[in-house]
Formats: sequence, structure tokens, C-alpha cells
Amino acid sequence: MSACLVGRRVRYDGRAKTVEDALVEGWRKEGRLVVHCPEVAGGLPVPRPPAEIEPGATAADVLAGRARILTPDGQDVTGHFVDGAHAALATARAHEVGVALLKESSPSCGLHEVYDGTFTGHKRPGEGVTARLLAGHGIAVFTANERPGAAVRPIPREPNPTSWRATEGPPRRNTGFRNGRPHSGRRRSPRRDAPPAPAGPPARPAADAPTPG
Ligand code: SF4
Repeated sequence: MSACLVGRRVRYDGRAKTVEDALVEGWRKEGRLVVHCPEVAGGLPVPRPPAEIEPGATAADVLAGRARILTPDGQDVTGHFVDGAHAALATARAHEVGVALLKESSPSCGLHEVYDGTFTGHKRPGEGVTARLLAGHGIAVFTANERPGAAVRPIPREPNPTSWRATEGPPRRNTGFRNGRPHSGRRRSPRRDAPPAPAGPPARPAADAPTPG
């Protein structure tokens, strides 16, 4: 979860954007919250100048090295943002995170919109670099306003090459939920009274298996 959403004063202006409700409090009490600020993890101070993705560029462009993230006076802070995104992904993997709740509009954490790169307060459709990287690695990302959805089950967002559809069954990674219920992610062992599997013909060797000579 974006650190600024849980009261950490890590935003560029030294403030937080706290979300307080029973859902988040419940997650906190259960010890299920992993809190992270990509920009601080990427080496940026608090406070810091605001920064925006270059006009017309996407988060994917930034991650691919085709575009920059700049401050109002033109300072290139791209490296900090990209480092922070990879730090967020490493943290998510270390904690087996399957769902991320992120702060909208940020050049790191935004999901549906970001500032347009002109520092005029205008927004455009787009996402932040951390949100893009997490989504691209199979983590279901949500904004703070979408937290009821995050609590129920991961919902695929498009476009996302690694997303899954509801009809394709649960994701491979353990998200902590299965069929809308908490789940450990472990497979159940077969029932003891289950009938034995019928004997079939001997298995054919795989096409690339070495043949006996
Ligand atoms: S990078 Fe994300 S967590 Fe950090 S202050 Fe910005 S929106 Fe909040």
C-alpha cells in the first residue's frame, strides 16, 4: 500500500494522504499491510520538488528508457523513480503481495490518471511507473477509492499483458483470496477415500525425450 495513504508524511510536499476506514484498519490489525513509498525508496528526499512524466509519454516509455520524469526546473529525476519502482516490486515479491492499493495521480503510484507534464495542474489518462511495473508482473493494482474491490478479489485491469480473466480461474500467485474468501494458497491433499485413478496406457515419451538406444 502506498505509504502516504496510511499516514506517512512522504509526499513531495511533506504531507500524507491518509485513508482511514475499517477495511484498512482491519488489514493493519491482521498484519497484512505492506507499506512502501517508491519515491523515498528511490532516494528522493521529503520534501522534494514535484515531478511529472514528460508530456505525451507513458510510464512504459519511462521504464523502457524512452522518456523522462522531470521537475518544474527541468531536473531529470527519472532514475530515482525507476529505482523506486523496482524497489516496490522487490518488496512486493519478498512479502508475496498479490494486491496493491496505490495513490491515484502520482507519477509513481497513479493508476488511471497522471499530471500531464506541463505543471499546470492538468491531468491526463495514464499511470505511474510503479503501478505499471507492479501490474506488468501480475500484481492486481487498485486506487484507494477501489479498496472494496481489492478486499474482495483481484480484478484485472486492461491493458495488462499478464492479467487474468475471471473465466480463466484464479491467478497462479497466491493473492490471499480464492473465490472471494481468504485462502492460504496451498493445495489440498487428495481425499483418502477418493477412488484410485484408472490405469491407462503406458505414457508415451515426450517428443524431446532421449530414446533408448
Ligand atoms: S510515491 Fe506513492 S507512496 Fe510515495 S508519496 Fe508518492 S504516491 Fe505516496
